[in-house]
Amino acid sequence: MFRPERVFFEKGALSYPLGEKLYHDFQEQPIEVKFTTSHNRVTGIPGKSAMEKFFHAKRTLVVGVRKSREFATCRPSAHYQLPLATGCPGTCEYCYLHTNLSRSPYIRIYVNQKEILEMAEGYINKRLPENTVFEGAATADPLSVEPYSGALAKAITFFADQDHASFHFVTKFIDVQSLLDLEHRGKTRFRFSINNPQVITTYEHATPRLEARLSAAEKVASAGYPLGFMIAPIIAEDDWEKNYSALLDQLHPFSNYTDLTFELITHRFTARAKNVIKDLFPETKLPLDEEKRSFKWGQFGYGKYVYPKEQMALINNFFQEQIAEKFPKAKILYFV
Ligand code: SF4
Repeated sequence: MFRPERVFFEKGALSYPLGEKLYHDFQEQPIEVKFTTSHNRVTGIPGKSAMEKFFHAKRTLVVGVRKSREFATCRPSAHYQLPLATGCPGTCEYCYLHTNLSRSPYIRIYVNQKEILEMAEGYINKRLPENTVFEGAATADPLSVEPYSGALAKAITFFADQDHASFHFVTKFIDVQSLLDLEHRGKTRFRFSINNPQVITTYEHATPRLEARLSAAEKVASAGYPLGFMIAPIIAEDDWEKNYSALLDQLHPFSNYTDLTFELITHRFTARAKNVIKDLFPETKLPLDEEKRSFKWGQFGYGKYVYPKEQMALINNFFQEQIAEKFPKAKILYFV
């Protein structure tokens, strides 16, 4: 479980029962407790260099009130982001949050969850009679802070009551116990982000190991939730076919699970992400050689380096064949 080194509170958060409870709980622990005027601009995180500040920020929890009345869109996998948290205590070298949240990598949770879910209800009503899908992990790993926020439990219970909406989120964390007995009515899909052990050991720091994620996934499956695995980033170097084939073999307990999805994302990077990664992890072994990649313009107006077309076709065929053979009931949602 994530244990912060320090916790900042917005004063306004203490007017909510969750904020008040967390404030009292943290004061009884050997953890630094401070106030901040805004959860968007926290100052006073220690560290002499940008790198030191980054790693201290990753151990910093901020408890605030989310004031924005707008949800960001989240195409193509969902209609809207559901903002239950921002940030993640993990320090995976390839993480997209390094560039998305570069100025504020600390972890934020919001105490006005009831208001956030009421806003979600507004978005659902606007799209009736269509179904509206919400993504809970667009800028966070919400399960990593669930023991403090309880926000996923509230969201799962909320979506169980919605006839025209569903919810999903992705995680590398394992604190699922408090969510197993909830009435979910199959409206929430848990997706576990996994990779082969070589990738996890080399690039994914401060996150649970593969066996722990799979054991959490087994509990979630036993509780009857729709389940998914996101294999990302697929790093096609050295013995990648052997390593990913072994990973899929390790998923054997799920081979006949009736509501199972796969999402497959190959490794890619932007010029900006490469610079940030090199600053934070100067010794990184991530494959960041532009000459071995194809350059592709993305939908947000910047380009990224992806595996060349022939290699993408090879990786795609490999996963399509392996998943069809090992998980005949599963659905591959996309390969990119
Ligand atoms: Fe980023 Fe996910 Fe790793 Fe957290 S667990 S650092 S969100 S890749």
